Amino acid sequence: MSGTPKRILILGGGFAGIYVARRLEKILRPEEATIQLVNQENYWVYQPMLPEVISGSIGLTDIVSPIRHLCPRTQLIMREVENIDLARKVVTVSPGFRPRQLELPYDYLVIALGGVTNFYGMPGMIEHGKPFRTLADALALRNHLIQVLEEADVETDTDLRRKLLTFVVAGGGFSGVELIAELNDFVHRVKTNYPRLRNEAVRCVLVHPKEHILPEMDAKLALFAEKILTKRGVEILANDRVTAATSEKAVLKSGREIPCKTLASTVPSALPAVLQKLDCTKDKGRLVASSSLELAGFEGQVWAVGDCAAVSTVAGNPVPPTAQHATRAAELAADNIVAAMRGGQARGFEFEGLGKLASLGHFSAIAEIMGVRVSGFPAWVLWRTIYLMKMPGMNRKVRIGLDWLVALLFPPDLVQIKATRESGITRQHFDAGEAVFNQGDLGDNVYIIEKGQCEVLRGTEHVADLGAGDYFGEMAVLGNVSRNATVRAVTATDVLLIPRGDFHQLKTSVPAFGAVFEDLARRRAETNHQPSEPS
Ligand SMILES: Cc1cc2nc3c(=O)[nH]c(=O)nc-3n(C[C@H](O)[C@H](O)[C@H](O)COP(=O)(O)OP(=O)(O)OC[C@H]3O[C@@H](n4cnc5c(N)ncnc54)[C@H](O)[C@@H]3O)c2cc1C
Repeated sequence: MSGTPKRILILGGGFAGIYVARRLEKILRPEEATIQLVNQENYWVYQPMLPEVISGSIGLTDIVSPIRHLCPRTQLIMREVENIDLARKVVTVSPGFRPRQLELPYDYLVIALGGVTNFYGMPGMIEHGKPFRTLADALALRNHLIQVLEEADVETDTDLRRKLLTFVVAGGGFSGVELIAELNDFVHRVKTNYPRLRNEAVRCVLVHPKEHILPEMDAKLALFAEKILTKRGVEILANDRVTAATSEKAVLKSGREIPCKTLASTVPSALPAVLQKLDCTKDKGRLVASSSLELAGFEGQVWAVGDCAAVSTVAGNPVPPTAQHATRAAELAADNIVAAMRGGQARGFEFEGLGKLASLGHFSAIAEIMGVRVSGFPAWVLWRTIYLMKMPGMNRKVRIGLDWLVALLFPPDLVQIKATRESGITRQHFDAGEAVFNQGDLGDNVYIIEKGQCEVLRGTEHVADLGAGDYFGEMAVLGNVSRNATVRAVTATDVLLIPRGDFHQLKTSVPAFGAVFEDLARRRAETNHQPSEPS
């Protein structure tokens, strides 16, 4: 081996990336190689426990570990991977405080960027669906649940209260089932804190495209899970899928609509954008790698591991996207990198899985371990023991153990953590017939139509049509009065919302922006004895 240390670059700090780094740190001497790892966060998330963050039975920061503690010899680069140039063997990452991109050359590359929730082709899902994959997703969903309960407690409109108390989860795989179980428990338990909600019905719905939930699990155990969830009041809608959403409802493939203000989704999964554009062989949206985990066409240079890789075991079985497979594949990839460096022989991936576990919350779970099926309380104890043992670091183990103890002794916390100012320009999607706002509503936003058509109604009288590029709603915001008309979507419509605060800020900082809207408001006010535009 030459005197210059080789440069090993790992992309992604999830199960796969972290286990590659840890293994390499163990095997390689510092003078043999430098190890760099790029991840957009400086922590690693223990995703199997993410659903418990929703109910608060595990503290938010207790399921994450600082990457610097887990892999002390690896240089962490907390940036976003923006481009991978396989020909030049260079990875480009996003700028930091200084607005300059950073280029990272490598000798050996590990791609372990996992997957992302992809709502492409599902109208309204980007705007109104809540993905559930990251710590930020879990925090956002928990905050949202508390928000809708607070709102439902003061809401007098029965229809709106019912929507606020309806919770839909799309996808009946492991994460969807664990999520609906925790969400259902949490909402029922904290509801007792809201005097006007104690006797109100809560509706939790799990939408699943197949006949039965948890298709990867033994059929008897999946049926047990269905029974438990149904007994706890979860409605399971089988053979259907969520295809679209608006701020008022979830729309299913069957044509069924569920009026709701909460729609969380654990599916579908896709490659992160930087891998979608990567020029290499892909299969069903994943990077094709050999059983020795080498990227097809880049053997000996690039390894693909974890959820982003399409790999088959030596026996020819496809490797499922789970943590237990990602960690084992990661260790093998590290061994094979060392073999490539030292001139050894690469090995193939042989691990076929030890078993499957799914928590159903509330002291119940199902488990299938080495052919043995367990359900109910014993499976729940098994689930907790196994996952606690797998959590790296005594510090986190103790914290989680204490969290579980506290959760057994005390009711769930319902503090809403507002980490950011809730503001900013957003988008909304409306189906034909849905109201953007109603006459008499408060002027809280200014709207710009991006796509679609709306009509303006005063009472039942049709007074104007609005189309792409039209903006409306400024009069009520500028005059601090309520809406003088209803605006309703005539076709499926996408609008941009500028909240009142941001609108005023923009108006003050950019006089030309303010002038456009003030002029428009003046012209609309001049015809105000018979105004045709909504305020
Ligand atoms: C809610 C939930 C529950 C689960 N429960 C279980 C379970 O009980 N058992 C089980 O075996 N599996 C479970 N899984 C699946 C398991 O978590 C995944 O299989 C595993 O995380 C895959 O590891 P990975 O390293 O490939 O991807 P990830 O863990 O997703 O890691 C990818 C990393 O790459 C980073 N990244 C992505 N794009 C970029 C970029 N452009 N720049 C920089 N960094 C980037 C991400 O931030 C992330 O840190 C669950 C998954 C979820 C979402």
